[in-house]
Amino acid sequence: MYINGEWINLDRRFDVNNPATGELIGQVSDGDQRHAQQAIDAADKAFLEWKQTTAYQRAAILERAHGLMLERKTELAELMTTEQGKPLKAAANEVQYAADFLKWFAEEAKRNYGQTIPSARPDQRFMVRYEPVGVVAAITPWNYPISMLTRKIAPALAAGCTVVLKPAEMTPLCALAVFEILHESGVPRGVVNLVTAANPVPIGEAFCSNSKVKKLTFTGSTMVGKNLASAAAFNLKRVSMELGGHAPFIVFDDADPMHAAKGVSLVKFLNTGQACISPNRIFVQRNIIKDFLDTLIKRVGALKVGHGMDPANHMGPLINHAALDKVDKQVVDAINQGAQLLAGGARLTEDGLDKGHFYAPTVLTDVSERMLIYREETFGPVAAVIPFDTQKQVIEMANDTHYGLAAYIYTQNLSRAMRVFEALNFGIIGINDINPTSAAAPFGGMNQSGLGREGASEGMMEYLETKLGGLSV
Ligand code: ADP
Repeated sequence: MYINGEWINLDRRFDVNNPATGELIGQVSDGDQRHAQQAIDAADKAFLEWKQTTAYQRAAILERAHGLMLERKTELAELMTTEQGKPLKAAANEVQYAADFLKWFAEEAKRNYGQTIPSARPDQRFMVRYEPVGVVAAITPWNYPISMLTRKIAPALAAGCTVVLKPAEMTPLCALAVFEILHESGVPRGVVNLVTAANPVPIGEAFCSNSKVKKLTFTGSTMVGKNLASAAAFNLKRVSMELGGHAPFIVFDDADPMHAAKGVSLVKFLNTGQACISPNRIFVQRNIIKDFLDTLIKRVGALKVGHGMDPANHMGPLINHAALDKVDKQVVDAINQGAQLLAGGARLTEDGLDKGHFYAPTVLTDVSERMLIYREETFGPVAAVIPFDTQKQVIEMANDTHYGLAAYIYTQNLSRAMRVFEALNFGIIGINDINPTSAAAPFGGMNQSGLGREGASEGMMEYLETKLGGLSV
């Protein structure tokens, strides 16, 4: 752990395993509420000086962290592949994305402009400043174990906040590597703190109940996010929530079905489907579904699954056994209720894969609304294809979910693209594009997919309070 600028090693530790092999790859301090309180106290004390630093000083530290992260891209990617499972190339892409947040918010720190506002009174002047909220508690997931940290830490530090972070218990080694970079970049004592723990519950309670914590930022499942937001509400803490998704991927018959199928094959199996913006319901207009499926099945058949350290492999394991069970349950349920299995559909156990949590890239068609997969986030490598007939019908089906994170539209008709973009209740929409994300663009969900946005100037506003001055002259 890293508290008040010191590395802390406890005797009580928990195991970290490689999801591809089951091997033990490390043991990490198992912190408890006392450590969370110590870290909050350190962050609270450090805030007094940190908020007085200039944006230029904070930007310089973030720039150094950006440089160090890029220097270590290869070793960080290897660590991520070993701890989280994604293939090396995808891991390196994630490190780049993580570093982008450090750079982007180093620049944004200097653009925390206030406002002056005309008053109706001739003797009055209004001015608005945006000030850091204070101590931020952050909880991050295992699926993007480096970039989800910098997406929170970089804007928080740029704004002048201090941070206590609890990483996911499956990926604490990546978090430690990020904190080593922050330490070496010259972040002052107490400004960033890391508490690792096997059991997240008491740490979450400490974050929500301590009045020194002014803001809670969380990325993870909708259920945990709701519970944390309710607990934080009692003290009226600010909250940002990046929660689950159930992304529709809509392919109209004026799109090139081959191009759309290629897009699905690339984005659906990225990170073994373990992404909140992964397409979970693939709606294809009925008259092009055959061409679409032919291409999709061909491409899925060519995907190589195995250990992410082998550059020949396109897809790694799922994170754990529970994830395998969830995927299998949804696939079995869909088949039992009439879906057709066109590829995959089973756990992979040959050639040593039984030691990890591998599931074959799977394609289902004729998925319908009775099935679990139609309603629930899969978080696994299953492309669930649903035929549709009209634009009106597909908009209704796409919006028929309490989630609202990402959506994708494939069409060559510009007016249709615009109309459907406007009609969908989702926070991030790719139009003939499978990667509508960037450090410079606001990421976040509508409805029960979350509150607030990360990245972009909106991402820094999440860590700022508005202060109005009304001056009589
Ligand atoms: P997933 O289903 O993707 O693992 P979770 O929401 O369970 O998502 O986990 C995301 C993060 O939330 C992890 O850091 C995890 O340790 C943490 N977490 C899970 N349950 C709680 C809880 N009750 N209180 C605080 N943090 C939690």
